Amino acid sequence: MQVTINGKQYDFDKGTTVLKACSEIGLDIPTLCNDERLVPSGSCRLCQVEIEGWGKLHTACTTQVREGMVIHTHSDRVIKARQDLLDMLISNHPLECLTCEKSGACKLQDYCYEYGITEGTYRWEMSKPYFDDTNPFYTFDARKCILCGLCVRVCDELQGTNAIGFENRGFDTQVATPFGEGLENSTCVSCGNCVSVCPVGALEPKSKKKFRHWETRTVRTTCSYCGVGCQMDLKIKGNEIVEVQPAFDAHNEGLLCVKGKFSYNFLSHPDRLKKPMVRKDGVLVETGWDEALDVITSKMKEVKKEFGSDAFAGLTSARCTNEDNYMFQKLFRSTLGTNNVDHCARL
Ligand code: SF4
Ligand code: SF4
Ligand code: SF4
Repeated sequence: MQVTINGKQYDFDKGTTVLKACSEIGLDIPTLCNDERLVPSGSCRLCQVEIEGWGKLHTACTTQVREGMVIHTHSDRVIKARQDLLDMLISNHPLECLTCEKSGACKLQDYCYEYGITEGTYRWEMSKPYFDDTNPFYTFDARKCILCGLCVRVCDELQGTNAIGFENRGFDTQVATPFGEGLENSTCVSCGNCVSVCPVGALEPKSKKKFRHWETRTVRTTCSYCGVGCQMDLKIKGNEIVEVQPAFDAHNEGLLCVKGKFSYNFLSHPDRLKKPMVRKDGVLVETGWDEALDVITSKMKEVKKEFGSDAFAGLTSARCTNEDNYMFQKLFRSTLGTNNVDHCARL
């Protein structure tokens, strides 16, 4: 498809959306509801562009390129429409950037800055305050919700849980759980995939840590809780993990489960084992790896000599790598000579 965008000609594959086409040529189109993994909804309407001969503006995420299309992504008309949309959103949004946990990573804040929106000019009663903190891991603040629908669609299309949806219509529309029972009594499995996609501060982890997003650095790592091995980006302030985001460019495609997303406090827990321990006179004391391995091998030899191979049983962990687990069963089957070896994933 030969298409003209902002005065330059490009070729795109049939079926490419205008939004994708713009992204392919490095043009940044604002959007609050788009997610490449989901069916486009065109609900925030911020990605509107002008297409010559098409009359009204069209959402770039739901419109596919056509042969000969002439598109303007930043004409005066388009910019005015985007400013009006942001104005309406901000008119129904608490301006709490000074204390909002999302400040610095909020797309609404970024777009208001880019399009010069300093306050809402529409005067109406703000949406009903509703705050749900019944989930153990995250909170929902309806005042900050811009109804982009990303959380609802992720929970439905990717997570498959359907714990949340939209209730009511028009100005009273709100993200809610069935029958208003709250997150605690819903089918929510606390995976936090809705939290990961919320573009504003409406869905936030219940983090005890105080941090600003610009104070953090990112470290890519592999979740150690199970063999799926999800990739995730740790947000680190100083030497402490303050938040976890799923990796989008990995096999887990931007998804985590409750363990990967929220359960990282063990890393800095004072009870965490960091050195081998050996029991001396009935008391566990820290030791070096050499001494620990000597103790293990000598005890194993003693037991094998006195009681035989089947006196051993080994239980390994889903938190180890496949390679570690392979070596572990080799140790038991080949070296110690027993099939008494198992894995916590079978419990
Ligand atoms: S935490 Fe997971 S299951 Fe619960 S509402 Fe969010 S996406 Fe759905
Ligand atoms: S809670 Fe966040 S992701 Fe969900 S609709 Fe509101 S703004 Fe969008
Ligand atoms: S996030 Fe969940 S599914 Fe992914 S590796 Fe960790 S425990 Fe497994």
